[in-house]
Amino acid sequence: MPPRQAWPAVPTTNGHRQPAYQAYTARNLHQIPQLRGRSSEDLLAMRAVAAVLPFRTNSYVVEQLIDWDDLEHDPIYRLTFPSPGMLRPDDLERMVKLIRDDASPAAIAAEAHDIRRRLNPHPSGQLVLNVPEVEGHLLGGLQHKYHETVLFFPGPGQICHAFCTYCFRWAQFVGEPDLKLSCNDPGVLCGYLREHPEVTDVLVTGGDPMVMRTDVLARFLEPLLAIGSVRTIRIGTKAVAYWPHRFLSDPDADALSRLFERVVHSGRQLAIMAHYSHPRELAPDAAREAVRRIRATGASVYVQAPLIRGINDRPDIWAELWRTALDLGAIPYYMLVERDTGPREYFEVPLADCWSIFRAAYSRVSGLGRTARGPVMSATPGKVAVDGITEIAGTKVFLLHYIQARDPELVNRPFFATFDAEATWFDQLSPAFDNDRHFFESAGEPSAR
Ligand SMILES: *Cc1c(COP(=O)(O)O)cnc(C)c1O
Ligand code: SF4
Repeated sequence: MPPRQAWPAVPTTNGHRQPAYQAYTARNLHQIPQLRGRSSEDLLAMRAVAAVLPFRTNSYVVEQLIDWDDLEHDPIYRLTFPSPGMLRPDDLERMVKLIRDDASPAAIAAEAHDIRRRLNPHPSGQLVLNVPEVEGHLLGGLQHKYHETVLFFPGPGQICHAFCTYCFRWAQFVGEPDLKLSCNDPGVLCGYLREHPEVTDVLVTGGDPMVMRTDVLARFLEPLLAIGSVRTIRIGTKAVAYWPHRFLSDPDADALSRLFERVVHSGRQLAIMAHYSHPRELAPDAAREAVRRIRATGASVYVQAPLIRGINDRPDIWAELWRTALDLGAIPYYMLVERDTGPREYFEVPLADCWSIFRAAYSRVSGLGRTARGPVMSATPGKVAVDGITEIAGTKVFLLHYIQARDPELVNRPFFATFDAEATWFDQLSPAFDNDRHFFESAGEPSAR
C-alpha cells in the first residue's frame, strides 16, 4: 500500500475527517502529481485512449489505492488509467496522430465516434431488448429483463467517482446522446411498478447512483416505499471503493444513513451491491468503515465484480476479497465474466481460465464465503454460470446453467457446450448435444423479446 496521506482536518458530525476531493479527467490529467516525469509520448497515448473511452479518476483513488512504486503491476492503476493496449494499434495510431497534429475537436470526435461504433457499445441488445414499452413508447432508463427484477437508471446517477477501464456501460459516459439509458422522473418507474406487481426487486444502477446527493437519491427511493409489491431495493455502486467518504464524511453522509434506515424500517431489504475489483480497495480504514456504517443502517452489502486480466485474474486475489468481505459482514455475490464490449480484447480471460480461478478461490474460503457464484456471463438470453469442465461420452464439455433467464423455463437446468479453451463469451460456444440446442437458441436474437 502507498503511505497514507495526511488529510486536512475538517471535522464533521460523525468524527471522520473529510479529505480533499479532486476529480481528474483527460482535461487535467497532466495535473496529477504522480504523473509528473512521464514522457510526452506516454501522456499522448493516454489522451488518445481517453478521447475514445471514458476516463475519470479522483485524488482518493490516486493517493490511497494506487501503488505508484509498482505501476507495472498495479491493479488499480490498470483499473482506472488508460493503457495504450485498450485500443487496436491502428486506431491508437490514428488518434495519436490527430491529437499530436492539433486536429479540430470535431475531427477528433468523428474519429472517436467511428472507433466506438466498432467496439460493440451496447452488448446483449440492452438498448432494444429489455426496455419496457407502455402504450407504444419505450420507457428509457428502465430495463426489465427478468420476471422479478427491474433495473432503473436515474438520470443524475449516470456518472461515477472514477471510471473503470473495463466498464461495460462505457458508452453511457462518452457523451453520445443516442447511446444513453437514463430517466429523470421517478414517476415513470413507479407507474411501471404499479402495472407490474410481479416485480419484487428494483435495482437502482448507473453509472453510480451514489454520486447523487442524498436529497436527490431520496427523490427516487422514497416513492418506492409506497409500492407494496416492491420488497427489495438494491443500489449498485462503486463509491464504496472509489469514494468511501460518501458514506462517512460528505456533508450529507449522515442524511444518507437516515435514508437507508427509512428504507429498512419500511420492512424492505436494502442491499448495497458493492463493486469491488480487488481487495486493495478495502485496505484503507475509510473503505472498511464505510461498509460498517452501511451495515449499521440495517442495509446488507453484497460484493461483486468482473474477472479482468491484469487486475484480478488470480485466485488469491478473489479469496482475499471474499475473506475481507466476510470480516466486514458483507456477502460474496457474483464473479462476472468481462462482457463483449469496449476494450474487451485487452481485458478478457478465457472461460476455462475463469472457471479454474473461481474454483481455486472458492475452495480457499469457508462455507460462509461460498455464497459467491461464478464465473457468470450476463449474456443476451440470461445469466449463464460456468459450472465446470468435464468429459461426457468421450466429448470434452463445459457444464453450464442459467442463474437468470429471459425464459424462466431455462433456469437452473444443466446443459453442455463443446469445450473450447479459447472461448471468452457465450456466443463463441455451441451446444455439445442435441438436447442442449434450445439453451442457445435465443442468444443474440433481437426477436426474442
Ligand atoms: C443480474 C441482473 C439482474 C439481477 O439478477 P439477480 O440474479 O437477481 O442478481 C437483473 N437484471 C439484469 C438485466 C441483470 O443483468
Ligand atoms: S463503476 Fe460501474 S458503471 Fe462506473 S465505470 Fe465502473 S463498471 Fe462502469
